[in-house]
Amino acid sequence: MDIGFIGLGSMGHAMAANLLRAGHRVSLWNRSPDKARDLVRDGARLAERACDVAPASGIVVTMLSDDAALRDVVQGEHGIGQHLGEGGIHVSMSTVSPQTAQELSALHAARGTHYVAAPVFGRPDAAAAAKLFVLCAGPQAARQAVLPALEAMGQRVFELGEDAAAANVLKLSGNFMLMAAIESLAEAMTLGERYGLPRERTVEVLTQSILPAPVMVNYGRQIAQHAYQPAGFKLSLGLKDADLVLGAARKVAMPMPLAQLVQGRLLSALAHQRGDMDWSAAAIGVSEDAGLPAKPATRA
Ligand code: NAP
Repeated sequence: MDIGFIGLGSMGHAMAANLLRAGHRVSLWNRSPDKARDLVRDGARLAERACDVAPASGIVVTMLSDDAALRDVVQGEHGIGQHLGEGGIHVSMSTVSPQTAQELSALHAARGTHYVAAPVFGRPDAAAAAKLFVLCAGPQAARQAVLPALEAMGQRVFELGEDAAAANVLKLSGNFMLMAAIESLAEAMTLGERYGLPRERTVEVLTQSILPAPVMVNYGRQIAQHAYQPAGFKLSLGLKDADLVLGAARKVAMPMPLAQLVQGRLLSALAHQRGDMDWSAAAIGVSEDAGLPAKPATRA
């Protein structure tokens, strides 16, 4: 298929590489064009403006930081919105608000194009291995048409119906659970540490008994080793997601006290200049609150 791809960050670069590897013809645009260099060497075409990837491609995938970046790439001066031909499909894979998904769905529908929300679970290593879990919602025929592209990037595609917002709500629910897991791991390890138990031992026992989940094993290892750099998922983006969770909850008048707690933890980490570390660096705040000396961050 001819596929346009916009957003070559930690996730997008690996995802575009997998589309190329699967034999699709890929046109790229990234705000910082340097990041496309190796993909061009592997056969991708680099466009000068976002809108330039749209006409040739019936399908345009976006993988951008946040709602503002996504809106800019769709509705901005050189956005894809007006350039995607009738019947064209925008596959939006960033973690954004359900409201943005609904608004962009309406905008596309008014222009005779389609919006498919396809946010993902999995970090850059999973993206590189084409092992992402894709949450997919939007018009049925459009979902069907983009399935081969999604399958080239992920290990499983979960179909969530016609309303694009559903995929984004579920993605936010998942990230809420991950941030709560990071907080609970950090508190459990820090409690153990105050009583002389090595952090590694706490994680080992908990993940080999009551909580044998990959998420607990992987974040547990990172937090035990203070391994917060390089970031797989930047803490500043984690805070963006905590804000999105609470924004979505506020819309339906739903209190989420646990989400508020972790939002505060992430905000404090941002104030301590930890925005570019992995979001598991929120755990440093738990140690600080317990009066433990700061450990230098090791490399993941
Ligand atoms: P990232 O490394 O920070 O990359 C962000 C991308 O967005 C870059 O291509 C960046 O361009 C582009 N961008 C940012 N602002 C822009 C703007 N105003 N106009 C145009 N382009 C803009 O982020 P990431 O980790 O790949 O994450 C991308 C999305 O996936 C986010 O929504 C994130 O929440 C979600 N996600 C991330 C992970 C993870 O583990 N990293 C996992 C699942 C989902 P430049 O290259 O020019 O900066």
